[in-house]
Amino acid sequence: MSTGWVCHELFFWHDTGRYASVFPAGLTVEPGVHAENPQTKRRFRNLVEVSGLLDRLTPIKPRLATEDELARFHTREHIARVKAGSSRLKGDDEGLTPYGHGSFEIACLAAGGTIAAMEGVLKGQVANAYALVRPPGHHAVADQGMGFCLFGNVAVAVMHARAVHGVGRVATVDWDVHHGNGTQAAFDGERDVLTISIHQDRLFPPDSGLVSETGTGAGEGANLNIPLPAGSGVGAYVAAFERVVVPALRRFRPEMILVPSGFDASGADPLGRMMMTSDGYRTLTRLLMEVARDVCGGRLVFSHEGGYSEMHVPYCGLAVLETLTGQRTGVVDPWQAPMDAWAGHELQPHQAAAIDVAAALVDRIP
Ligand code: ZN
Repeated sequence: MSTGWVCHELFFWHDTGRYASVFPAGLTVEPGVHAENPQTKRRFRNLVEVSGLLDRLTPIKPRLATEDELARFHTREHIARVKAGSSRLKGDDEGLTPYGHGSFEIACLAAGGTIAAMEGVLKGQVANAYALVRPPGHHAVADQGMGFCLFGNVAVAVMHARAVHGVGRVATVDWDVHHGNGTQAAFDGERDVLTISIHQDRLFPPDSGLVSETGTGAGEGANLNIPLPAGSGVGAYVAAFERVVVPALRRFRPEMILVPSGFDASGADPLGRMMMTSDGYRTLTRLLMEVARDVCGGRLVFSHEGGYSEMHVPYCGLAVLETLTGQRTGVVDPWQAPMDAWAGHELQPHQAAAIDVAAALVDRIP
């Protein structure tokens, strides 16, 4: 059984334009490229080809998500607004999320590409899958885009799996450095979807992703946030997985696990302040594969989110794909040795304290 791979040239044509800064600051910041531009993702895709791994992946063709599929999560007003905005040259009415001509269709392809990856795994055509889609999705909420995201790719795919394929329990494990607020909101009050987000404490959205957000109503306990202090390294991430994420998945026993996969916890990321390495992502992927094998037949579906270091994202992504396929390409990440030499990768006491707070919530998962 192989690893499915979703990618499409159009994902790189989603145009976020030139931008003065993430937070508009008038005429004090010289315009430059938007942080969420095609380069990191294109270079990830290209390294997969150059490494030879592309030949060993099973291509899965993305399709456009329909408006009805998007509407399982999003309001018709939001869908119509993005559609209208992307027929102009530049839409900018979604929070911090400029978009250009054709972005509506490309965003539909990102959501549909995640659905296609999920279906490939669910139908047993592939063992697991990675959807390298763009624009990302995990910040988008029901009635608006947010944080470079237009539609909630993973949320839409989970809703599709449950509505169309009769899947019951699903878990999401979001390791993007920012809080997966959109995915959390999509399933708030829902006890059969466990949403987990591990992120830098109060990075984005502001004041979001606190450990105290555990779900509401019938879904109480089915949301787990692990906010880690800025500066956390591989030790903290591995400890968070071993002490919280893996026990949570073993308790919840999902039928499938989806991973909103951003690489902005990289030690080289301009938008995050963590110290993850490509080997670190390799370890986290292995831990997810082990628990997925035990609880859900190995069914793991990754959908790409953030990650803004042109030099490092490709190696982090390749490490995940090498682990998923069980094949090493021989490519050496030139940043691994310098990053390994940084002080502070070991789990620090204040990081352990933060992880312990989240670990205490595992018993309350429904
Ligand atoms: Zn992010």
